[in-house]
Amino acid sequence: MAVVGVLALQGSYNEHMSALRRIGVKGVEVRKPEQLHGLDSLIIPGGESTTMAKLANYHNLFPALREFVGAGKPVWGTCAGLIFLANKAVGQKLGGQELVGGLDCTVHRNFFGSQLQSFETELSVPMLAEKEGGSNTCRGVFIRAPAILEVGSDVEILAECPVPSGRPSITIPSAEGVEEEVYSKDRVIVAVRQGNILATAFHPELTSDCRWHRFFLDMDRESHPKAFSALSLSSSS
Ligand code: GLN
Repeated sequence: MAVVGVLALQGSYNEHMSALRRIGVKGVEVRKPEQLHGLDSLIIPGGESTTMAKLANYHNLFPALREFVGAGKPVWGTCAGLIFLANKAVGQKLGGQELVGGLDCTVHRNFFGSQLQSFETELSVPMLAEKEGGSNTCRGVFIRAPAILEVGSDVEILAECPVPSGRPSITIPSAEGVEEEVYSKDRVIVAVRQGNILATAFHPELTSDCRWHRFFLDMDRESHPKAFSALSLSSSS
C-alpha cells in the first residue's frame, strides 16, 4: 500500500488528508524529519509559507525535505507548498525566507493581491482530460495565491490562468535583479510538473474534485510500482 506523507505544520493539511482518504489512500501527517522515512511521496499543503518555513526550521526539516525531493520521490506543493518547492521566490517583503527548492522556476508570492483578491475560476487543464477522459477544466481556488513568472526548460506547464483585471500592479526584479518592472502579460502560469515535482498555485484539496490527487498518485505509482500492488484507485471524483 502506498504511503503518502502530508506536511502537517500549518495550513490545509487536513483537507489533503481527507482527499487522500476519498481516493482510498493512506495519508501520514509529517512534522519531524524522521517521519519522512518510509514514505513514498509527500504533499506540501497551502497555508502561509513564512510561518511554515519558521516551523520547518524549528523542527530541522529543511535538510530532510531537500533530501526527499533530491531522491526523486514524488512531491506536490499546493500554493504555499509551491513557494516552498521553487528555486527562487520574489515579491512582497519576502526577506530571505528559506525554501526547499528543486523546482526550476521563479514564483511570486501573493501575485494576485491580498486576501481580498482571493478568487475562484475555471482553469483549462488538458492533462486532466488526457489522463482520465471527461472534462479538461477544473475549479481553481486561489487564496492569496502565488503565481509562476518563469520556468526552466525541464518544466512542463500544466495550467495558466488569465490575470484578473483589477489585480493590484506588482513589480518584479529585472534580469539583472536590480531594476523593477511591472508584470504585464495577460496570463500567468499556475500549475507545473518537473519530473517528480508537481506544483499548483491553487487548492484542489478545497474542492470535491480528486483528479489532481489521482494524478499525483499516478506519479507516485510510476516511481514505486510495488507500493501500489494492493491499491485500487476509486474512480469517483
Ligand atoms: N500567500 C501565501 C504565502 O505566501 C500562500 C497562500 C496559500 O497557501 N493559500 O505563503
